[in-house]
Amino acid sequence: MHNVVIIGSGCAGLTAAIYAARANLKPLVLDGHEPGGQLSLTTHVENYPGFPDGIMGPELIENMRKQAQKFGTEFKAGAVTEVDLSKRPFRIIAGKETYEAKALIVAAGASARLLGLQGEKELIGHGVSTCATCDGYFFRGKPIAVVGGGDSAMEEANFLSRYASKVYLIHRRNEFRASKIMIDRAKANEKVEFTTPFVVEEIVAPQGHVEGARLRNPETKEAREITVDGVFVAIGHDPNSIVFKGKLEMDANGYLIAKHGSLTGVPGVFIAGDVQDHRYRQAVTAAGSGCMAAIDAEKFLEEHTH
Ligand code: NAP
Repeated sequence: MHNVVIIGSGCAGLTAAIYAARANLKPLVLDGHEPGGQLSLTTHVENYPGFPDGIMGPELIENMRKQAQKFGTEFKAGAVTEVDLSKRPFRIIAGKETYEAKALIVAAGASARLLGLQGEKELIGHGVSTCATCDGYFFRGKPIAVVGGGDSAMEEANFLSRYASKVYLIHRRNEFRASKIMIDRAKANEKVEFTTPFVVEEIVAPQGHVEGARLRNPETKEAREITVDGVFVAIGHDPNSIVFKGKLEMDANGYLIAKHGSLTGVPGVFIAGDVQDHRYRQAVTAAGSGCMAAIDAEKFLEEHTH
């Protein structure tokens, strides 16, 4: 029986672990299918406070892990396959293992969707990015592409035009999911070239970093090649919330809904990080919400000891 089980070992989960461990709760962290979360997939992080020269994402997350371990956090590998939140202690099943917890913190994160192209995942941090706020700065004066036709793609295209010499906005259709105001803003931006309807067939990276992209018009079959230093994939995120379906409240896109800080409709279950945040999605906001969840869990356990 554990006092607190934390699902997820990204920024939110590890911050929750640091706080819960320092409160002597001996938390158990279940790593999940992407240990370290999205920070482990980025390179240089320059907007996490406290690191004036920046820090590599994997190093930052490793430091958090060590900090959580130092205060007595236990870690187990494995992705959660089922949860029973109908009574306390909660039961959390990860493959063949079953864990029992008096309180549960869900910090399972969200995964950025990728195009599914060969080598795309390996090129993250080498020209492929899923986060304009994180990586835009590295493309000063360089041509880049943004893929997607939703609000994220429009927003990223505009944001990236501050740095990039040119932004190709590549979308597979001529119609956009994005709101009109966002499309108009991107269209009014001289640096943004709408490249539709085109799908990315290949990311060109013979030396291990992005040099261009091969595109195809799905209607005319016309091929086009563009020279770019970066490809920003902005085709949405998927929250890792599937095991909580029907058990915790979620919105139409599967994001868990927090009430009053980190609280959910189930007393003793708390949520933090990107699994409940489609708006900010920053390491520092995830860390902040992880801290909130741990404090809320600690208070809950105090009130339910006897
Ligand atoms: P989204 O609205 O789901 O749009 C995803 C886009 O990516 C769509 O245009 C889709 O094309 C395209 N796409 C999906 N899979 C693809 C694939 N495999 N290959 C090529 N293209 C693909 O996602 P989002 O833009 O991240 O927005 C998510 C939510 O956050 C939305 O509700 C949005 O309004 C909101 N948001 C709001 C703001 C803002 O208001 N400032 C900013 C960002 C996000 P199809 O259209 O052809 O399916």
